[in-house]
Amino acid sequence: MNNSVWTNDVQMPTFGRLEQDLKTDVLVVGGGLAGILCAHRLAREGVDYALLEADRICCGVSRNTTAKITSQHGCIYAKILRMFGPAKARKYYEANEEAIQAYYQLSQSIPCDFEWKDNYIYSKESNHDLNAEIAALSHLGIPVEFTKNIQFRFSVEGAIRFRKQAQFNPLKLAAGLAKDLRIYEHTAAREFSEHTVITDYCKITVSKIIIATHFPILNKHGSYFLKMYQQRSYVLALENAAQVDGMFLDAAENGLSFRNYGDLLLLGGGGHRTGKKGGGWAELERFTRIYYPGAREVCRCATQDCMTLDGIPYIGQYSKRTPDLYVATGFNKWGMTSAMVSAMILVDLVQGRENPWTQVFSPSRSILRGQLLNNAFEATVNLLTPTKPRCTHMGCALKWNPIEHSWDCPCHGSRFNEKGNLLDNPAANGLP
Ligand SMILES: Cc1cc2nc3c(=O)[nH]c(=O)nc-3n(C[C@H](O)[C@H](O)[C@H](O)COP(=O)(O)OP(=O)(O)OC[C@H]3O[C@@H](n4cnc5c(N)ncnc54)[C@H](O)[C@@H]3O)c2cc1C
Repeated sequence: MNNSVWTNDVQMPTFGRLEQDLKTDVLVVGGGLAGILCAHRLAREGVDYALLEADRICCGVSRNTTAKITSQHGCIYAKILRMFGPAKARKYYEANEEAIQAYYQLSQSIPCDFEWKDNYIYSKESNHDLNAEIAALSHLGIPVEFTKNIQFRFSVEGAIRFRKQAQFNPLKLAAGLAKDLRIYEHTAAREFSEHTVITDYCKITVSKIIIATHFPILNKHGSYFLKMYQQRSYVLALENAAQVDGMFLDAAENGLSFRNYGDLLLLGGGGHRTGKKGGGWAELERFTRIYYPGAREVCRCATQDCMTLDGIPYIGQYSKRTPDLYVATGFNKWGMTSAMVSAMILVDLVQGRENPWTQVFSPSRSILRGQLLNNAFEATVNLLTPTKPRCTHMGCALKWNPIEHSWDCPCHGSRFNEKGNLLDNPAANGLP
């Protein structure tokens, strides 16, 4: 069972396939939240554009997100401050805060259950990480509060609160935006040359291309297969569980996440690198039994996001050698604000305008980070493992996932069902 809570309330608009050759200025590839927000902004600015979606819009990760809209991405500011200095850390904050405002503006014309909420990063144990984060936030002049007053059923040592963050129903917004956009569904982009994109039925001639396919589908440029891996996480929607006053995430790696949607509690966690073992739904079920014994599961879903080497998304020119190709990826499980930041940056760049945040999110920044070694190690081990089946992306040995009955790739996160059909990219084809 993999059924998102959002799909119960929303009928997504449908679009036909592109069957004839097309010429357009900007082609957006991928109809998740990132692609739709880019297309919407292009339309608003009067740019000639089209969006291609391989399947149905928002059938990917955006369908299963917990949809917190926040600039508090875990304890990220201490890390960015250390790696990139105060100017870039401050810009990261400003870009994400502007994204929150942009969602609010859209919610004024598209009802999408937008609610202002405070966001909290809590800690169950020592406050070491929180202290370092508070110091970084204070240094950056970002309003920050520490509180011990968290009403959970388990004890919490303390939490950092960001006021006036938000939560919403992402599919309601996507449906409202998409209905007025030039979208072609069931139209996968298969091949790219400088100004041409080939699908199964036709050719599209373009000036600029934005790749918003979650994991970028072109291996030839940008080395995204080295720069990213995918992390899978799990969500339960629970009825008759306690309401939580805000949005919450554990500061510890792979800790739990909480928010409400109406009277449901969305409990997230159990995360692990795709293709590896982890807590999964069992961890969430265990937690529910202990802390919310009267709760009833309404639905559950699992999904995965692209994790970058330094915790900052890759938004901008796809690679130094591809001046007309752009990308929005690596959202590190913070794709709501990151998708909006992508739209703000990329719609400037495709029109030749400067954007104040380009340097912070540039995909061409240094890759010399510790995570690079982990990614290279995983790829080497799984390329050398002699078992079958092999991933159609780069040939790594796939691992059987007994919980979801799928073949998962530990290298880059592609997934296939029992019959070999493709479930998650970057692989573009099913198993032979
Ligand atoms: C469990 C979980 C919870 C999360 N919760 C939050 C949260 O609370 N707040 C937050 O900010 N972020 C959250 N995230 C992250 C966020 O959901 C994602 O980063 C975001 O939804 C990714 O959007 P996307 O548009 O990049 O990708 P997707 O939604 O996956 O869209 C990509 C689209 O591209 C299409 N596509 C692929 N290949 C092609 C092709 N060749 N041609 C045409 N189309 C193609 C796919 O079919 C798909 O529809 C969460 C992530 C996880 C895993």
